[in-house]
Amino acid sequence: MSFASDVRGELARVPVSDACCARSELTSALLCAGGIAWRGRGRYAVTITAAEASTVRRYFGLLKQFMGIVGQIRTLTGDALNNQVRYQLAVPEEEAPGLLNDLNLLEEGALFGLRPVPPEETVRFSCCKKAFLRAAFLMCGALSDPEKGYHIELAAPTEALAAFIAGQAAAFDIHLRSALRKSKYVLYLKRAEDISDFMSLLGAMNAMMAFENIRVKKEVSNRVNRQLNCDSSNINRVMNAAEAQIRDIRYIDAELGLDKLPPGLRQMAFVRANNPEMPLGELGDLMDPPLGKSGVSARLRKLSGIAEKLRCGDEVKL
Ligand SMILES: [Zn+2]
Repeated sequence: MSFASDVRGELARVPVSDACCARSELTSALLCAGGIAWRGRGRYAVTITAAEASTVRRYFGLLKQFMGIVGQIRTLTGDALNNQVRYQLAVPEEEAPGLLNDLNLLEEGALFGLRPVPPEETVRFSCCKKAFLRAAFLMCGALSDPEKGYHIELAAPTEALAAFIAGQAAAFDIHLRSALRKSKYVLYLKRAEDISDFMSLLGAMNAMMAFENIRVKKEVSNRVNRQLNCDSSNINRVMNAAEAQIRDIRYIDAELGLDKLPPGLRQMAFVRANNPEMPLGELGDLMDPPLGKSGVSARLRKLSGIAEKLRCGDEVKL
């Protein structure tokens, strides 16, 4: 089971207690699924098709309980190209015009006598706005696995419907972004916080919590990885600098002899060479008299400068 199908399964079980929400959700399901086909002379074929049986059963139940219509559920088997089984709820043809009229979707003079989007009164209350969005996701939504990335989208069949859906989400301060893709008007969210808010708005509370758990786990492991990388690069930096200093000290000893160095530099060279892994601040404590970190680093720089001059054959003044 994918994360998206878990979400759809949960949304299909969200209870509907008010007729206002049932009407809004059915309206959204019909429009988003593109399930209203004009048959001429006031006749319409009205269907709701979905990949999950639970989605179709939900609308069968709402249709029966709130509109008094008993639909027919059938299974559509895929073709050679698309082998996926789909489920379809069909409204009996004689009931279709009455249903569309009840849902305020008929409008004289409009193309095929149908409104492209419902009137505002369909989504007057915030419960109905949520219901509208829930069906939009069930019918034309997609969601990526949060383990892999954050993306949720709704692919509306028309621009007008996409704008209407975006308007409902905006009422809850969720601002869907839009794009045109393969003649679908796609609305999407990419920020984890927005996706989480959107899922809880639709009523997928369990999925939202699962999403949050994955998100927190990913953030913690990213932080730990960053910390580990930083620590090991610091260790490398200490080791590399110390290795270079010790190499320089050995070179001075071989070319010049450490006993030729002034006492302060000679002591520094011994302390560094005998404590190859020690940070600068601690090296200073071993000096007599003790030396601060900046004093240590100044003397080590001086030693490196001497080694450099010896390598280049320059005169070394001590
Ligand atoms: Zn409502």
